[in-house]
Amino acid sequence: MREQPQTSSPAELQPLRELTQRVGSNPLLTQASTGNSSAKLDGVLWIKASGRWMADAMRDDIFIPLELAEVVTRCLEQGEDPAERYPGASLETAMHAALPHRVVLHVHCVNTIAWAVRNDAPVQLQRRLQGLRWQWIPYVASGLPLSREMERALAGCPDADVFVLGNHGLVIGGDDAKAVEDLLDEVERRLAIAPRQADASDSAALREISRDSPWDLPDDDGVHALGTDSISQAILGGGLLYPCQGIFSDSRTPELFRPIACREVGEQWRSRYCNRPFLILEGRGVVVRRSMAQAELAMISGLAQVLQRLSASAPLRYLTDSEVAGISGAVAYRYRELASRSQGDGGR
Ligand SMILES: [Zn+2]
Repeated sequence: MREQPQTSSPAELQPLRELTQRVGSNPLLTQASTGNSSAKLDGVLWIKASGRWMADAMRDDIFIPLELAEVVTRCLEQGEDPAERYPGASLETAMHAALPHRVVLHVHCVNTIAWAVRNDAPVQLQRRLQGLRWQWIPYVASGLPLSREMERALAGCPDADVFVLGNHGLVIGGDDAKAVEDLLDEVERRLAIAPRQADASDSAALREISRDSPWDLPDDDGVHALGTDSISQAILGGGLLYPCQGIFSDSRTPELFRPIACREVGEQWRSRYCNRPFLILEGRGVVVRRSMAQAELAMISGLAQVLQRLSASAPLRYLTDSEVAGISGAVAYRYRELASRSQGDGGR
């Protein structure tokens, strides 16, 4: 494997860094180290490094340079995922390299996801995105499979610059950072959903549960909606909606998100749930493990925001068992690696 040079980013990258920092600082657009952006400059693909937070784009050099032609000929054309050949590069490097746009932005925006987890998403989006050059990409695993699907969509609609990824998020391409940001604003405006108001959490009960335990109340009060909003709970009980939930992935993952009925709280209760990263307590709210990584906290905050934007009657498309099994593999490993790294970096 050829080592890619670690150089500081050029001045031409500044607009992308500014856009990336703004987008990364908005938890409704991206959570923790998820989301990524890139620019193609003079044959070099500047891609967000794996595990870095978009919010840090102005403070740190979070982009790494890859020879675009090499990524295309050595990886995409050979069926090798560039994220494996260049372990420092974003999980979605293949997609960034495959798209023809100079600037590409991929976000996990909660408004888009709230549409993208619906069975009727293509119909709903058609009405709302009318007039834009957009494409629907049904759910497919991140990395090379996703980039292949996007290439297929582009073959049928070569000037597409908005891609809604089923059960995943949004990708926007453009000539420069400003064009991408303008288009992002337009898509966000069209897809905005007012969040439902959740009942207040029962903080006294949550404190009592947390006493002498590994758990504590989360800093973000919005997370409690996972436990206090009955519609969110019913949705959570149905399965996983998108792969970021795989950050906690192991064989028990769907179970982790199933609310715990408070009648269960008793003597055996603590030992039964003692290894869980968080507990969603029906009608009470949420407690999180004190050692929980910032990336994991950001993920459940984003999940609460998505669920608050889904109605009880929304026809949902959960990830299938085989899709969940897929994210339990390499992608989940990567997510967990990111979670532990962000913790090691002092929360970033
Ligand atoms: Zn993504």
